[in-house]
Amino acid sequence: MRKVHTAESLVEIAHLRNVLESEGIACVVRNDRLGGVVGEIPFVECWPELWVRQPGESLRARALIDEALQSVEDGEPWTCPRCGEEVEPQFSQCWNCAAPPPGSEGAR
Ligand SMILES: [Zn+2]
Repeated sequence: MRKVHTAESLVEIAHLRNVLESEGIACVVRNDRLGGVVGEIPFVECWPELWVRQPGESLRARALIDEALQSVEDGEPWTCPRCGEEVEPQFSQCWNCAAPPPGSEGAR
């Protein structure tokens, strides 16, 4: 097991776990308790951590994480062309109606 990422946000950790698992990298989240003692102990050690099971995959995992974080920072929320909901940039389809982002169809 090797730690590849730590983030204040459990949402971010969960997203990155999905990214890694979709690439076939087995990973584990530690310190995933929500709220609770975290607010009283402001140390980074209490933040959620993402670990990969196979140390040999840690470099690839880090590269995927960098890529995922970069795309989140670069992205902007998009508006669903079907239902008009605003969707966070890391989602590749509308959370509400599962429509793809504008421009993804007909781009080929
Ligand atoms: Zn929608």
